[in-house]
Amino acid sequence: MPELPEVETVKRGLQPVMEGEKIDYVEVNRPNLRWPFPENMAERLAGRTITLLRRRSKYLLADLDSGETLIIHLGMSGRMLIEHADTAHFHNGATIAQKHDHVVFHMEDSTRIAFNDARRFGAMDLTSTQSVEQHWLISKLGPEPLGNEFSESYLTNALQKKSAPIKTALLDQHIVAGLGNIYVCEVLFRTAISPKRKASNLSANRAGSLVPAIREVLSEAIHSGGSSLRDHRQTNGDLGYFQHNFAVYDREGEPCRNDCGSKIFRIVQSGRSSFYCPKCQR
Ligand SMILES: [Zn+2]
Repeated sequence: MPELPEVETVKRGLQPVMEGEKIDYVEVNRPNLRWPFPENMAERLAGRTITLLRRRSKYLLADLDSGETLIIHLGMSGRMLIEHADTAHFHNGATIAQKHDHVVFHMEDSTRIAFNDARRFGAMDLTSTQSVEQHWLISKLGPEPLGNEFSESYLTNALQKKSAPIKTALLDQHIVAGLGNIYVCEVLFRTAISPKRKASNLSANRAGSLVPAIREVLSEAIHSGGSSLRDHRQTNGDLGYFQHNFAVYDREGEPCRNDCGSKIFRIVQSGRSSFYCPKCQR
């Protein structure tokens, strides 16, 4: 599932082909993804210029010169596939239209951008740009982990009110937006905090230490996404997924990278796997 760094990488990959560019027309190949598409979506997008492409949590927001914003969520498996008119015929064997291309943006400069999603957990909606923050998908989200509002005092206060385990509290989108399972596991390892520790029991120092760790882990992932983006662009324009070198995530039974002698454990919390080192994380 794409997490915040993947969505940021997709945004950066799309900016050169979408921002400031005019949509010629849009093919909508089915009535819905996770939810029905907004009414007359193709008509509302045709002929519009995308003035700004931005990200809020795991949502891509394309502001249009009509005063509306297109909200895109990649869901579990959504990808954006870019094909430039001048390179399309180099795709060996693949026809231009692919299975699961549910929405295709045909840009005025002939670039084709397809939203491809085999599992259809993705979503799109249109809303007025002025009221994006009040949209039902976005209004409940906490601050952006890479934004200024997400400070040590903010997080320390927010966690003091939570009796849930810290792992669960950091996944709560009201507390911080867009932080997912993989990166929470990595952040807790880096700060030596057990995923089982009650959020409200963390000292202010340890709670505060989560803020720079969250920023670091996400920034590193975005950086590695950037590198993968450069490789991808040379091949098939497929934006969205890349491999990271995780310290604990998906490493159950493997030795701890701190050479403490312990193995990485896996437990299930709120239905999600937590990976951690019981010796290093307290
Ligand atoms: Zn360890």
